[in-house]
Amino acid sequence: MPAHEVLRLLKAAASKVRDPLSGQSLQQAGMVGHARVEDGRLVLQVVVTAEHSEEHRRRMLGSLAKQIKHAGWDGPIDAELSQLPSFDPAGDAKAAPPPTPEPPPAQPGKQPIPGVQHVVAVASGKGGVGKSTVALQLAMALSRAGHAVGLMDADIYGPSLPLMLGTQERPGLNDQKKIVPVVAHGLRCMSVGFLVGEKTPLIWRGPMVMGVVRQFIEDVDWSGLDYLIIDLPPGTGDAQLTMAQLVPVSGAVIVSTPQALALLDVVRGIEMFEQLGMPILGVVENMAWLDLPGGERMFPFGQGGARKLAAERDIPLLAELPLDPQLRVAGDSGDPGLVVGGASGLAFDGMARAVAAALPASVRA
Ligand code: ADP
Repeated sequence: MPAHEVLRLLKAAASKVRDPLSGQSLQQAGMVGHARVEDGRLVLQVVVTAEHSEEHRRRMLGSLAKQIKHAGWDGPIDAELSQLPSFDPAGDAKAAPPPTPEPPPAQPGKQPIPGVQHVVAVASGKGGVGKSTVALQLAMALSRAGHAVGLMDADIYGPSLPLMLGTQERPGLNDQKKIVPVVAHGLRCMSVGFLVGEKTPLIWRGPMVMGVVRQFIEDVDWSGLDYLIIDLPPGTGDAQLTMAQLVPVSGAVIVSTPQALALLDVVRGIEMFEQLGMPILGVVENMAWLDLPGGERMFPFGQGGARKLAAERDIPLLAELPLDPQLRVAGDSGDPGLVVGGASGLAFDGMARAVAAALPASVRA
């Protein structure tokens, strides 16, 4: 059964099972996370909170399995439960987490970030597809178009922003004890890499990740921004799900390379945002082709996949980006402006126009 068919079936089943706590369907409550077919088994993740009792969990899983079979899946089903982590940033990694008296709700209330008009999340199904590059270059292109732009590196496990910006500056504190983002290349930027240094190994547990992201949202002075671009960690697992729920996202951009496998992950990413009720601004196909010096164009990772996927899922294709050695150099040398006017720079300008048209920023007085 093709992946999109499995996801459709799962969505239909999840919309028929109620979460006993919120009264919403599992689909509405965004409780069915990541799903995949492995050796003929449907492996899926159901996200619960600490408030869900054993009985709740057993009943929900039983009903979901029944509905999935009813919707047409006749193979085995492995449902993995994952409990949303608590938001205690100082949690002790050694001790098994005790049941928290006040667990976060499945859909924590999202407060707008003070002074920010639009939050744009940049996500990818897997790592290494150019998500951070796209996040930074989208921010640069929006800034070139005259907008006030911030960039938050929430890719806690692999913060690449300090290297890509070529700065080791540290954020400051203002009179209100708010963290002041580092200003680089006209962008207001925040990354865990500014706080810990690049060589420190980062071993994060879920709750710590949430603590940092929460702090980046609540304790940083982002005021005066038209757009805050957030570089999410890759994947569609628990951390991404919880993080996406924490951030008041106006729209999500999903980055992929053309390979089929990466595209399967993209479908999962699309499903995740849809389940969370977040608008998807579109897909970006990165590393789509390579122009050789002789004028020949080659397609090392296949051709047209993202275009087809965008048409199938009825979401815009925001940009198709070439494999551009200059873009890699721009990333590695900390000089993101290097690509301005070139093939990828122009593609990012077009992408920024599409994002600004979908999420217009009002002119400030
Ligand atoms: P991710 O955030 O998805 O892990 P990155 O943005 O860090 O990926 O990109 C991985 C590497 O690929 C970086 O060295 C980056 O400079 C390079 N890269 C990304 N997109 C392109 C492209 N279109 N052409 C050339 N190099 C690219």
